[in-house]
Amino acid sequence: MSFQTLGLEPAIVKAITEAGYTEATPIQLKAIPEVMLGKHVLASAQTGTGKTAAFVLPILNQLAKEKNPGRGPRVLIVSPTRELANQITDSIKKYARYLQINSVTVTGGMSYNLQNKLLSKPLDILIATPGRLLDLFQQGKIKLKDTQVMVLDEADRMLDMGFIPDIRKIYNATSKQQQMLMFSATFDDSIAKIAHEFLKEPITIAIKPETKGHINIQQSLYFVDNQIHKQKLLNHFIADAEMDQAIIFTSTKRNADVLADQLYHSDIKTAALHGDMSQGARTKTINRFKRNEIKVLVATDLASRGIDVKNITHVINYDLPRFAEDYIHRIGRTGRANKKGLAVSLVSPTDREFLRKIERFTDLRIEIKTVPGLEPTKMASEPAAKRKGRGENRGSKPFNKSGKTFKNQTNAKKRMGRKAGQPFAA
Ligand code: ADP
Ligand code: MG
Repeated sequence: MSFQTLGLEPAIVKAITEAGYTEATPIQLKAIPEVMLGKHVLASAQTGTGKTAAFVLPILNQLAKEKNPGRGPRVLIVSPTRELANQITDSIKKYARYLQINSVTVTGGMSYNLQNKLLSKPLDILIATPGRLLDLFQQGKIKLKDTQVMVLDEADRMLDMGFIPDIRKIYNATSKQQQMLMFSATFDDSIAKIAHEFLKEPITIAIKPETKGHINIQQSLYFVDNQIHKQKLLNHFIADAEMDQAIIFTSTKRNADVLADQLYHSDIKTAALHGDMSQGARTKTINRFKRNEIKVLVATDLASRGIDVKNITHVINYDLPRFAEDYIHRIGRTGRANKKGLAVSLVSPTDREFLRKIERFTDLRIEIKTVPGLEPTKMASEPAAKRKGRGENRGSKPFNKSGKTFKNQTNAKKRMGRKAGQPFAA
């Protein structure tokens, strides 16, 4: 369905048409009308399915109709990371090209002087990360009592990062009359609980993945014997002629640095991206990656969240993620904007446990592949016996007896041993 039929203002339709959007995505189709009706909405849909526009477009539509801009923000969008906040800001700029709307972004790592200057001007939309927002609010630099809409984006990640107490304080400072919207890539009991706390009679929209994983992403795994074998396989994938840009995920910041250094010295345009880098350095790296000046980005989970680069053809899990949700977030970096992507996982014997968690969480058996000449020894692929039941027997021997539903993800999460609110060690 086109955006026009959703009843959006012509100025907005014009901007999104110019952005190359012809059809609304499923989450946009379902969420936009509800948000336009002023309902509280709890929406979950996979990463890369267009959730930003699903809340930004109806919000802009509402703002476009009102003529009297106030001084304080009418719309507050809270995002867990700086990268994501910047990305939301970019989307707003793009969609609001033909509207007179002022948006301001405040995140950690920005200078207070600049923020104070930005905040002293009239503004309609404030996009912020929780810590800095609360900080500025407590300093009396931001008034939140006139908010009409508040959005919690990536609610699952906020929960994981332990932001809920901050969100609670922020929420208490906002107008009780406001419309609350919550967006998340995953949905489980803990998300439902937060929604219950902040949303009034919400409309719940859950878009289930079209396939297990992602329709545009081909997932495969390669068993590796050891570090040397892993390195050889990695080189094989990087040398792939089909590769345009790639993100390689490592489990630690140190591994990211070491690997980026190695690749750099073998003449591949590479950079590392992780949480130990200054905000300036991170933004610079992401921008260079966007401009395709960097071919291979070696990143940790947290730092890479929200990276939206259309040319990413390969996501390589050099180390498997410890938390199954991160697997979904990682592979969601490719296959963007309807392009095809490849998600490759290199699985060493010690990664077996993580692989099981991922497969349980996604309810998916990732296809095992080998590269001719780089096959694993029998030892490395041996416990695969346990994985019998894949192929034609798939489904008849369910990996997860309960039949996976969103609800079960909570259990999967519990099994993974991470408590809600416990931060990631990126
Ligand atoms: P999510 O928040 O669900 O992870 P995003 O909002 O970041 O997804 O969108 C992912 C990508 O899809 C972005 O590049 C965005 O520009 C693009 N996109 C969003 N909606 C559409 C659409 N209707 N048609 C084409 N591309 C879209
Ligand atoms: Mg998003």
